[in-house]
Amino acid sequence: MDPVMDPVLTRTVTKLSDGRELIYYDETPGHDRSAADQRDLPTVSTTSQLRRDPLTGEFTTVAGHRQDRIFLPAADQCPLDPSRPPGRLTEIPAADYDVAVFENRFPSLAGDTGRCEVVVFSSDHGSSFGSLPVARIRSIVDVWADRTAELGQRPGIEYVYCFENRGVEVGVTLHHPHGQIYAFTYVPPRMRKMLEVATAYHGSTGGCVACDALAEERAEAARVITSGRYFTAYVPYAGRWPFQVDIVPHRHVPDLPALTAAERDELAEIGKDCVGRLDGLFDGPMPYIGSWYQAPVGAGRAESHLRWQLAALRRAPGKLKHLAGTESGAGAFMNDIGPERAAAMLRGEQ
Ligand SMILES: [Zn+2]
Ligand SMILES: [Zn+2]
Repeated sequence: MDPVMDPVLTRTVTKLSDGRELIYYDETPGHDRSAADQRDLPTVSTTSQLRRDPLTGEFTTVAGHRQDRIFLPAADQCPLDPSRPPGRLTEIPAADYDVAVFENRFPSLAGDTGRCEVVVFSSDHGSSFGSLPVARIRSIVDVWADRTAELGQRPGIEYVYCFENRGVEVGVTLHHPHGQIYAFTYVPPRMRKMLEVATAYHGSTGGCVACDALAEERAEAARVITSGRYFTAYVPYAGRWPFQVDIVPHRHVPDLPALTAAERDELAEIGKDCVGRLDGLFDGPMPYIGSWYQAPVGAGRAESHLRWQLAALRRAPGKLKHLAGTESGAGAFMNDIGPERAAAMLRGEQ
């Protein structure tokens, strides 16, 4: 295997007072990670059920216990900040940290239905993914890869989905820069659909649909935002969102753990660049959903091609794309901004 953990993160697995795992990923060695969680939290009780809709065949997770979760706390009550005992005890007992991962206290998926993790990008409450140093984003790429590999080895897990909801417009309940990971016991519908298309395409052409689409985008160039040696970022020909940026590896790579160190270096740079372009479009930070599409744990690895999709929701200053009748009711997306125009704006040609 390639020497990918370069620079190497130091990983320390600890437990919170209710038994949930907290994992520190340190960029430098030698940190004392023995600070105990001084809170007396009750054991997490979950009532998640996986229910299959007989009309669509798709699953819904019913998680009634989540209604009590913390919603947009004041900055001085943020549960993702470092702890300041005795008064300020948070989810992270340490006085400082680089990247921290812990099991969600109010998980949608737990036990038989999977696992939900929170990935805290920085101890700095006021920062954001796009304003982090490239070196930190590079660390986060390693953390995503490490979590993908580890969670994928757990019994029953079929898909590891790393994502970031950014902005209250997307339903964020904590402002502190963080992402999430859902380890599903099934392959979610969108990923299943993409895998079906890729498998059929491979069957009829022998090729990879994502490799071929990438080659066409690069040849046409009208929707390309930026390109490096290993990755290209572009607004897809049939993008669904007002500003949709797909960041795709040139190599046919199935998942995050399979990226080389050099690829991860460039990915961190391109990721920061693209989020910066989105934030620079209009007034204020761009609300977006950042999704990692990668190979499922089981069958389909050979057909899968890694993709990072930033789905940005603001279509004009003060105007959001809402998922209404056609999108929510019919599943048919209407995009009010041409992908070519969106790409030109993201290239700074407005
Ligand atoms: Zn915070
Ligand atoms: Zn491919």
